[in-house]
Amino acid sequence: MKTIAVLTSGGDAPGMNAAIRAVVRTGCENGVRVLGIRRGYHGLMNGDMFEMNLRSVSDIIHRGGTMLYSARSKEFCTEAGMQKAIDVCKENGIEGIVVIGGDGSFRGARDLSVRGVNCVGIPGTIDNDIGCCDYTIGYDTALNTIMDMVDRIRDTTESHDRCTVVEVMGRRAGYLALNAGIAIGATSILIPELEFSVDKDIIERMRRTQKTGKQHFIIVVAEGVSDQLKERGLNDVGALAKYIEHNLGVESRATVLGHVQRGGSPSVKDRVVASQMGNYAAHLLLNGVGNRVVAMQKEAIVDYDIVEALNMKKSIDLDLYKIAMEISI
Ligand code: ATP
Repeated sequence: MKTIAVLTSGGDAPGMNAAIRAVVRTGCENGVRVLGIRRGYHGLMNGDMFEMNLRSVSDIIHRGGTMLYSARSKEFCTEAGMQKAIDVCKENGIEGIVVIGGDGSFRGARDLSVRGVNCVGIPGTIDNDIGCCDYTIGYDTALNTIMDMVDRIRDTTESHDRCTVVEVMGRRAGYLALNAGIAIGATSILIPELEFSVDKDIIERMRRTQKTGKQHFIIVVAEGVSDQLKERGLNDVGALAKYIEHNLGVESRATVLGHVQRGGSPSVKDRVVASQMGNYAAHLLLNGVGNRVVAMQKEAIVDYDIVEALNMKKSIDLDLYKIAMEISI
């Protein structure tokens, strides 16, 4: 293997830079040329790349975002787009690519691998929603950001005896909402994996809590429950807050944390796991192994066939949910 490349794709996540750094340095230290591809598969199709060296990745381990930028590309999913990417790989002598991203990015990596460009995926997404991995890069930082933001919201919520409904990211998964909800002592937590009743799971819990003397409440809602809310006539978290105010007489507000959850300096855990995964992925390519996804299982770094990885499912920790419901009253 003489030349490998690295790209970031899909939503960015804190720790992607640490993974890029590990890939580049592992490659350079083992005598291969490493190319950095800008803006994911879009950049790959258009040959937007540059040669990296040990110093290209200085001063990035502590930065959020991705120095290689990220993008989503519909064209890449077409046969013509895929062929364009393969041609660019041939022209530039790229024999293997480390793809840092989520499930969608791994599908692209699978398709390239099938066509002869060895790819290794690294899970980079704040949602922690990749079936083969206990942990994805960016998750810990995002959790800490949510905790920090909601701690601030709690101060003002408490001062005014209010209820604040906080929407956190997680379109398909409730890991962020559940774990952040526990960490900040949310009275109720709504996640897409579980059916809920607004009256039973929010209003009744708040009423019980009120009777014990508590007058302020935080409700954490994953963005992935928006469809379930709509089915109940509640268009968004603002409508949910109004519903709570109307039914309980507690002044209620809604806060959508939004993209603040994606940014910021990566936590120790994200820097370390990203470094481990980046190093592992580069070694797989150096050994001529492709079509793999690097994953963390029970604290160990392992790898899976991409197709197998894409078919794996993981479930939310219901015991954790039960604990949250028992102690956040
Ligand atoms: P996130 O978890 O942040 O959404 P992701 O990697 O799942 O990350 P996607 O937008 O789904 O993000 O995918 C990133 C890119 O991967 C897409 O823009 C597209 O170029 C490529 N991709 C997605 N799905 C496929 C597919 N089925 N086949 C080939 N390429 C794909």
